[in-house]
Amino acid sequence: MTGTFVGMPAFPAAARGALADTQLRHNLAHATSTIRAKRAAVVGEVADWEDLRLAGAAVKERALRSLGDDLVRLEGALTARGAVVHWARDAAEANRIVVDIARAHAVDEVVKVKSMLTQEIGLNEALAEQGIAAWETDLAELIVQLGGDLPSHILVPAIHRNRAEIREIFRRRMGEVGRPAPEDLTDEPAVLAAAAREHLREKFLRATMAVSGANFAVADSGTLVVVESEGNGRMCLTLPEVLVSIVGIEKVVPTWAELDPLLRLLPRSSTGERMNPYTSTWTGVTPGDGPQEVHVVLLDNGRTRALADETGRQALRCIRCSACLNVCPVYERVGGHAYGSVYPGPIGAILNPLLKGTGDPQTDSLPYASSLCGACFEACPVRIDIPEVLVHLRAQVVDGHRDDRAPKPEALAFRAAGWALGDERRLGRIERLSGLAGRVLRRGGRAPVLRRVPGPGGAWTDARDLPAPPAESFRAWWRRTGGGRRR
Ligand code: SF4
Repeated sequence: MTGTFVGMPAFPAAARGALADTQLRHNLAHATSTIRAKRAAVVGEVADWEDLRLAGAAVKERALRSLGDDLVRLEGALTARGAVVHWARDAAEANRIVVDIARAHAVDEVVKVKSMLTQEIGLNEALAEQGIAAWETDLAELIVQLGGDLPSHILVPAIHRNRAEIREIFRRRMGEVGRPAPEDLTDEPAVLAAAAREHLREKFLRATMAVSGANFAVADSGTLVVVESEGNGRMCLTLPEVLVSIVGIEKVVPTWAELDPLLRLLPRSSTGERMNPYTSTWTGVTPGDGPQEVHVVLLDNGRTRALADETGRQALRCIRCSACLNVCPVYERVGGHAYGSVYPGPIGAILNPLLKGTGDPQTDSLPYASSLCGACFEACPVRIDIPEVLVHLRAQVVDGHRDDRAPKPEALAFRAAGWALGDERRLGRIERLSGLAGRVLRRGGRAPVLRRVPGPGGAWTDARDLPAPPAESFRAWWRRTGGGRRR
């Protein structure tokens, strides 16, 4: 797996199914409007929020410019503190490294603290193939895993589920994979959380190996940082004997000081909190304290491809806060599954094609999954100009199809327009024909707009009116009236 879920249809087909699901739309509207309001309130408290955004963007931009050097410094610092550093070019290499470590320790299960990167590379599936179970320990991830589901939001992967659905999943599935849910389980959030805590605690205490991601990696000191809300990260990072952290190479921040704006921007933009409940940092191995074997896998998987794209590289500044999802009118209506990737919403619409490259029908559809309203840019704490990148990627998609044997209707329309506009006399003849059509339509008592045109144009006019051609073209009017001087 390299960024998109295998077998997912292109966005328009997936979105159609999601739009028909009224329960899903209700859950999404409720959840996104709640998070939006919380975020707006805490962002409004910060007088210099725009300066903070500029500072965050500058830190990440600097980090991307010095990425090569900083990665080498990170490796040196990690190694000096007792960690083993691995480099992985792609998903297959990263998965092989983790599987080999698990087999070397003869483990048949690992606990995981939320890591989107492991979902990007399909680590759970790779471990399962070797008979190793991977247990998600973040509450929302647990819901997704037990429900046999796919994540649909960066921060709240089970945003598409309501409380009653979660209760049902817990009752049905917990007992099959570990401690069952209590008989009197209700759909009260505190009761559901307590059931998850009991279920997970058993796994935390038993597991000897953990897999984590990282929000940031400080090159200076070789410190990895995980930001989370539930404390499951702390359990994963301290209890097992072996810890494997898989880190995308774009997570590097050169110095501790540069973490400052990012750690202030992230909680307000993501959960709408002034400060996140848990920020865990760890640096290699500390004798007698925490995991005594620490591995760090530095993963590319398309990131250097994205970095080479002058316009698109800004997507690598993303700190995965999900603010762009919560303000996106498209995401709010279709949810995350329609994007076919662990990275949904506006950031997913640019990140997936940047990581994978265009040329596949599913990724090619993503840059069009936007109204280009610009709300995502306004909300982004590190000022990623998502609309700019979307337009840039649309151009790449169009360029990639220029030599198609069967051109798309849009390409045919533009070719026809080019042919018509390329010769003055030809244009005049077409205008006369179009004027004739306009007069006929009006004489037939039709309104000056066409609604629900049959045939291939129907998809366009389903949602818009098509103006009927004017009875007289501008040039004919100019000739007839001398540019408006004669009546
Ligand atoms: S693109 Fe910006 S707003 Fe969207 S998840 Fe990334 S950092 Fe957050």
